[in-house]
Amino acid sequence: MRTPHIHIIGAGLAGLSAAVEIASMGARIFVHEAAKAAGGRCRSYFDQHLGMEIDNGAHLLLSGNTHALTYIRKIAAEDRLTQAPQARFPFMDLRNGRRWTIAPSEGPLPLWLLSAERRAPGANLRDHMEMLKLIWASGDAPIAERIDCHGPLYENMARPFLLAALNTDPAKASSALGRQVMRETLVKGAAACRPILAREGLSPAFIDPALTYLARRHARIAFSTRLRAISFTDSRARTLHFDDHDIELAQGDLVILAIPANIAANLVPGLSTPDAFNAIVNAHFAIAPPMGTPLMTGVVGATSEWLFAYSDHLSVTISAANHLLDRPLAELAKTIWGEVSQIAGIEAPPPPWRILREKRATFAATPEQNRRRPGVRTAYANLLLAGDWTATGLPATIEGAIKSGSAAANAARMQLQQRTAQTHANRG
Ligand SMILES: Cc1cc2nc3c(=O)[nH]c(=O)nc-3n(C[C@H](O)[C@H](O)[C@H](O)COP(=O)(O)OP(=O)(O)OC[C@H]3O[C@@H](n4cnc5c(N)ncnc54)[C@H](O)[C@@H]3O)c2cc1C
Repeated sequence: MRTPHIHIIGAGLAGLSAAVEIASMGARIFVHEAAKAAGGRCRSYFDQHLGMEIDNGAHLLLSGNTHALTYIRKIAAEDRLTQAPQARFPFMDLRNGRRWTIAPSEGPLPLWLLSAERRAPGANLRDHMEMLKLIWASGDAPIAERIDCHGPLYENMARPFLLAALNTDPAKASSALGRQVMRETLVKGAAACRPILAREGLSPAFIDPALTYLARRHARIAFSTRLRAISFTDSRARTLHFDDHDIELAQGDLVILAIPANIAANLVPGLSTPDAFNAIVNAHFAIAPPMGTPLMTGVVGATSEWLFAYSDHLSVTISAANHLLDRPLAELAKTIWGEVSQIAGIEAPPPPWRILREKRATFAATPEQNRRRPGVRTAYANLLLAGDWTATGLPATIEGAIKSGSAAANAARMQLQQRTAQTHANRG
């Protein structure tokens, strides 16, 4: 019997996590990636203007992101991540210069809420209890139907965290997705909320070690190889069509489509996918952070939302940033640098900068879009799906993308086992 071939289309985190899990299953793996490099929306590149390696956008993990951390352990990249020793989130309100720190306590009992020093300023304990309505509610209504989206608790804590996780105006966002994020992090206490950053870059942490892992297991990875179309029979994918070659799928071969939602929708007839997306804007400044600058700082009352400190540069992230897509870059850089200098206490003219605008950074995490997310299996038995936009129960994040890759790998494992059992039964 020929060893089954598994074709993974797309070498973003979803495709790579599927490949890494399947690498131990005894199938032959072929990864086909349209771009010249792997990583998709989570990658690093050398920026000529800044003269340094930067990420397409600062990415934050939390210590409660178990799928992501299992993947990192598997590809032996733990030393490429920096975990903050404590779950502390410094904030600054640029309208009045006020600073505070959100600091969850250890364990699931929210004892930190008893201390005014550790919770959102201007909000009392009763206000914080409001969040329970989001955590305990069921169903999937917009968050504004679950909690009050006004006032100091919302502005100084709930909004910044939910906006970063959902990349969608939290008031309109899916309460089911918001709830799941809170349950996997804040509700579990400090141990699940420690910030984790790939300070030397996303590709050195998440991508390059996975490629090494796969190469050692004889997986074949082809770059600049774009899947253009798929031919189907009634129940199976039959042929993969690339620019300069086709691949006929044999009995037992599988395909995992780990490409963005809008591209998958064009390739697979009748596939339901999210069809509304939100942008993320990142500003990178080539200047080393002053001593003592926290790993990350939340910003309220400004254009900037989070400031990240890397060893040789500072990066600002702005979520749900569709409104900034048409702003002239130089004007945006000037505004953001003015804010960064206040937050980090730097009195200097703007250093060399780069603004990156990812127009379709993630699907819009509204209840309506959440309902459009498909599961791993498709109408075609040999075609599986992965990607942060599939029905992971999580928003479009590193954790969601890696979880989707694992789910596709599990479905592939089951199909391979069924095939082996069938072959033995036929022989017997
Ligand atoms: C600026 C920015 C900031 C972010 N910040 C965070 C954060 O702080 N924390 C967090 O957890 N998440 C963050 N995210 C989200 C996270 O990056 C994504 O959820 C994750 O990278 C998605 O991975 P994926 O594999 O599902 O998709 P993708 O990364 O989009 O991978 C799909 C791959 O398929 C390839 N491809 C497309 N079409 C074809 C084709 N026809 N044939 C072959 N290959 C094809 C693409 O080139 C790409 O490599 C951020 C995203 C962005 C853009």
